[in-house]
Amino acid sequence: MNTARGRTPSPPDLLTDELAIVRWAEAQSLNLDGERPCLTEALELRERLTGLAEALDAGLQPPAGSITAINYHLAREGGCHQLTRTSGEWRLRFAPARRPNVLQAIAQSAAATLADPLLFVRRCAGLDCSLFFTDNSPNQSRRWCCASVCGREVRVERRRGLLR
Ligand SMILES: [Zn+2]
Repeated sequence: MNTARGRTPSPPDLLTDELAIVRWAEAQSLNLDGERPCLTEALELRERLTGLAEALDAGLQPPAGSITAINYHLAREGGCHQLTRTSGEWRLRFAPARRPNVLQAIAQSAAATLADPLLFVRRCAGLDCSLFFTDNSPNQSRRWCCASVCGREVRVERRRGLLR
């Protein structure tokens, strides 16, 4: 989501073509195995996840279209459920048939974030910053994407008496 957002009022869109997605995936340590993700599909998923993040930041229910988009990508992942025995305990787990493609990996990450009751999605409170971040702090008190960048700016402005 943050590829079309930033710390300036009009940040550039970093996903301009399929190679940009490949570079992004490499920066996230996602192994693509030569996969060339589809730009249109990636931008559609990004738009759905942005809608989801905006709703969560506002304390609203996730939009149905965002959940549908996540489930669409999750459903394309082949695999089966398996019983395994771990440390003497039987566990039911999902065993994927192959490594998820980049959009499936993103959908899995979004689904895991949404399903975690202790993980909150927020928009940065920094001046001109539109970045989203996840907050797993004990009292959900995190306000900035990066305390040493956006948080520092706000503290400096406050000292100058520009903000209340
Ligand atoms: Zn920020």
